[in-house]
Amino acid sequence: MKKPIVILGPMESESALLIQSLGQRQARAVGSFTFHEGMIGGYPVVVCRTYIGVVNSAAAAALAIQRYAPLCVIIQGTSGAHDPALHQGDLVLGDHLVHLGRFFTPHRDRGEGTDAFAWEPQGSEIVAVNAGGFTEVLHSDRRIIDIAARTPYPRGRVKRGTIGAADIWNRELDMIAHLHRTLGTDCEEMEGFGVAQVCAGFGVPMADIRIISNSEWHEQEEFNEKYGADCQMFVLEVVKRLIAEQTLM
Ligand code: SAH
Repeated sequence: MKKPIVILGPMESESALLIQSLGQRQARAVGSFTFHEGMIGGYPVVVCRTYIGVVNSAAAAALAIQRYAPLCVIIQGTSGAHDPALHQGDLVLGDHLVHLGRFFTPHRDRGEGTDAFAWEPQGSEIVAVNAGGFTEVLHSDRRIIDIAARTPYPRGRVKRGTIGAADIWNRELDMIAHLHRTLGTDCEEMEGFGVAQVCAGFGVPMADIRIISNSEWHEQEEFNEKYGADCQMFVLEVVKRLIAEQTLM
C-alpha cells in the first residue's frame, strides 16, 4: 500500500483549498480532528486542519503518523516576517526550524522586573534524535525543500531560511529584531517546530512551508488571511511534483 502524504494547515483559511483539491474525498474524525483522505495525481493524500498552536499541530501530526504511517508530513500556512526584507506574499521554505517559546531565564530579584532579551533559548528533548541531550534546531527534509525551491511562484520571492514557532504573536519590533539576530529567524508562526519535533521522534520526513501574511516592519502589512490560499496553492504544486518525481518513494 502507498504511504500517503499528509498536509497540515492550522486555520480554515490555511486548509480548505487543499481539502477541496482532494479527489475521492472521505472525512474521518479522530477526536477533535478531521482527516480528509483523498487522491492527488493518482496518489493518496490526507489533509487535516490542526487548529492554531504548537500543541494542536503536534497532536494532529502524532495522530496522523500513527494512523497513516505517511511518506512525509507538510505543515504550511501564514507567518509574520522577522526579516525586514520580506513582504506579504513572499514564501519562506523552512530549512531550519526553531522553538520560540522555550527559554531559561536568569534569576532576578523581586522588584527587578523582567528582561526578555536575557532569556536563554533551550533545546527540546527528542529521545529518538538525541537521547540525554537537547535539540535546538530541526530541519525540513532537504528533498522536499529542493523541490519547493524549483517550483515556480509568481506572487513574491522565495527564501530558504529559518522559521520560528511558539504560542506567541510578537509585535514588538525590538523583540522581533532580537529573535532575527540571535536565532536567525526569517519568520514566526505557531506550529512548525511542534510538528517537526513529533516527526523527528518518529523518523518521518517533514517540511514547513510558510507565506508572509504580516510584517511589523512595514506599516501597511497587517495580517490578511487571503495569503493562506496563496500558500496552499503553492504547496499543492509542490506536492504534485513530489508525486510526479516520486521523491521519497
Ligand atoms: N490574528 C488572526 C488569527 C491568526 S492566529 C485573526 O485575527 O484571525 C495565528 C495563526 O496564524 C497561527 O496558526 C500562526 O501559525 C499564524 N501566524 C501568522 N502570522 C503570525 C505571527 N506574526 N505570529 C505568530 N503566528 C502567526
